[in-house]
Amino acid sequence: MAFIGGTAEVEHSCEDDKLREECGVFGILGHNDAAALTALGLHALQHRGQEACGIVTFDGNKFNSERRLGLVGDGFNKQSVIDCLQGELAIGHVRYSTTGSTVLRNVQPLFADLHSGGFAVAHNGNITNARTLRDELIRDGAICQSTSDTEVILHLIARSQKTRIIERFIEGLRLLEGAYAWVCLTNGMLIGARDPVGIRPLVIGLLDGAYILASETCALDIVGAEFVREVQNGEVVVITEDGLESHLPFPQRPARPCIFEYIYFARPDSMVGGRNVYEVRKDMGRQLAAEAPSDVDVVVPIPDSGVPAALGFAEASSLPFELGIIRNHYVGRTFIEPEQQIRALGVKLKHSANRGVIAGKRIVLIDDSVVRGTTSKKLVSMMREAGAREVHMRIACPEIKYGDYYGIDTPDRKELLAATMSCEEMRAFMGADSLTFLSVDGLYKSMGYEGRDNSMPQFTDHCFTGDYPTPLTDVKGNEMSRQLSLLAEVR
Ligand code: AMP
Repeated sequence: MAFIGGTAEVEHSCEDDKLREECGVFGILGHNDAAALTALGLHALQHRGQEACGIVTFDGNKFNSERRLGLVGDGFNKQSVIDCLQGELAIGHVRYSTTGSTVLRNVQPLFADLHSGGFAVAHNGNITNARTLRDELIRDGAICQSTSDTEVILHLIARSQKTRIIERFIEGLRLLEGAYAWVCLTNGMLIGARDPVGIRPLVIGLLDGAYILASETCALDIVGAEFVREVQNGEVVVITEDGLESHLPFPQRPARPCIFEYIYFARPDSMVGGRNVYEVRKDMGRQLAAEAPSDVDVVVPIPDSGVPAALGFAEASSLPFELGIIRNHYVGRTFIEPEQQIRALGVKLKHSANRGVIAGKRIVLIDDSVVRGTTSKKLVSMMREAGAREVHMRIACPEIKYGDYYGIDTPDRKELLAATMSCEEMRAFMGADSLTFLSVDGLYKSMGYEGRDNSMPQFTDHCFTGDYPTPLTDVKGNEMSRQLSLLAEVR
């Protein structure tokens, strides 16, 4: 989900000084406790978005909707809220963390009363031609209620001339480019869909005969559901009380799921593409140790994201693993106001040095990724202040050089450290004694391949390679209008 249109003012807090997180979706059909289970599922998916959350249910007569700003545990912790969400059919959404455009009308699931009945949608991903479609729709008379790219699908369904709702939905999907995992609800149907290359994840589960759709398996685990399978790339699943029906409306293409799910997004206990995310991250650490061995005394993870890779790195290097940095988990977003003074303190509020294991030692710091380099720079200097003799940096993914348009929402390319500096310049910027990133082939090796197959890459890895698997119509359109306005200025 991304924001388009004029009204979205975006301020960045200290926490936003990096890539932003994605969204998480959940849906269930045929269970008495549909809303409560959805709240639990969203709670397990909270790492995918902390800004807002919502649940829509259908109770046999009407649709019920509760949407909140903030965390699931704060918004859906009261029985009175769950009681408002009657019905055996529910979908829910957690939204990624930006501080701007925090308006309830953008909070999902979005709902529309269509000619065919009510339709609610929850979306993870980003439609890369949403702005273009939205402009056309508005020119054609559509009135948009939100500034989210997600709303476009509701207008496309509403305008379709097909008879069956599922045909109308599929007709809408055919016009979309980019990344999507949808969970939708009608007055009797739960629908799930993944884009033709399956960039964003979506899994199917079963609980007491009730089908569940969720972004990650950790949401199935929390409700005690059994994992059935993943929704395939390009697949639309329609779940009714009669069971699950699968449609493959797009020309078959090889899947290219987003590799960043393994590196950072997914919860370590989730299974993605049949792999345990935690084990993959450890393998990335092992591979990094093979590519960039370090002559040091101790391996220190940057918590929490660097922990599994650091464990793998330490194990492969036969070095001690120590928690040399302690993370404060109680740094709330409300406390980190975007005041310049406090922003500068950001990382100190979140991390502190554990002097006892650092002083006088040669250490290697391990993190999963570098975006703007803010975290690494601050932590290298914190380690030196705590008495480290040498501080080496090892990053368990390749250099992030290209912007994301599929829901990760990376900063502009010019703000990505690796897009603007050589490795040596980055090392100097961080103040580290040495710096190495995992290679692209090394990343693929830790996923069980020989390396990246350049003629047929197995993952969406544009952040590192610039190889975008879908058209980027809006981005190109923006570029064109930028060029045109530059031309106009010159004239
Ligand atoms: P930076 O400080 O800008 O270099 O960001 C790097 C840190 O952000 C690393 O510790 C990562 O674990 C973390 N990170 C990477 N991707 C994301 C994301 N999408 N949202 C939030 N944090 C992220």
